[in-house]
Amino acid sequence: MKLKALLKSPWVFHLSTGSCNNCDIEILDCLTPRFDVERFGMLLAGSIRHADVLLVTGSGNRKSMQRVKKLYEQVPKPCLVVAIGECSLSRGMFIDSYNCPMPLDKIIPVDVYIPGCPPKPEAIIAGVVKLIEKVKKG
Ligand code: SF4
Repeated sequence: MKLKALLKSPWVFHLSTGSCNNCDIEILDCLTPRFDVERFGMLLAGSIRHADVLLVTGSGNRKSMQRVKKLYEQVPKPCLVVAIGECSLSRGMFIDSYNCPMPLDKIIPVDVYIPGCPPKPEAIIAGVVKLIEKVKKG
């Protein structure tokens, strides 16, 4: 019930775990007037402690994944996690790297996956809106 109330205006926090940063640029695009993600009530949170939704990009590496785990512990629960881009889904082109031992969903629970390398802003917005609708329906 609390999660449903929060999702009327979800505050999102963008967490980049490392990679080429193209997915991060697409997230920034979502915030521009052209895509205007605020029309869905979404706001970019300045602190992870204020977030309702985490937008996670990147393949992660040995160091950043430790930070991801610690940061996830600091998010007020319930919280939703959106994995954006092939890197965060499956480590993408870095899958064979010695420094990317584990995909994101082995570190923290992921609620929705948005594929693409990088996914377009429309796909990111559609994925987040679908997740919100799913939570609202219960
Ligand atoms: S999924 Fe593709 S675009 Fe996104 S960070 Fe990885 S390599 Fe870059």
